Amino acid sequence: MTRQKALILEIMRQQRPQHLTADEIFCHARQQMPHIARGTVYRNLKLMERDGEVAHLEMAGGPDRYDCNPIPHGHLLCDGCGELTDLPVVGLIREVEAAIGTEVRGYTLTIHYLCPHCRAKNAQ
Ligand SMILES: [Zn+2]
Ligand SMILES: [Zn+2]
Repeated sequence: MTRQKALILEIMRQQRPQHLTADEIFCHARQQMPHIARGTVYRNLKLMERDGEVAHLEMAGGPDRYDCNPIPHGHLLCDGCGELTDLPVVGLIREVEAAIGTEVRGYTLTIHYLCPHCRAKNAQ
């Protein structure tokens, strides 16, 4: 593993909120490795996606994001601030499988809501 790739993985696992865009990952990487090129970050993300180490999330109306958890899971998207958080949906997928009588081969699930922070702000 190259130093660049190790740094990218570390950023993706440690930054909160998670699910950064490629550009955000590049900005964090540059703080720790000032000479890293944008193209290096993008290329590494593509390779990691190909190897199944990270997942690539296509976002409607915004730049794509990267997920350090490549195991399928759903997401909660806050319509207020755009924060994306993981949502375990194993039970839901089981119910769908029971309903359709066959296995679910893959899914993309994004639930829109207002996060607790935005709800508190709206209530003021
Ligand atoms: Zn929010
Ligand atoms: Zn996720």
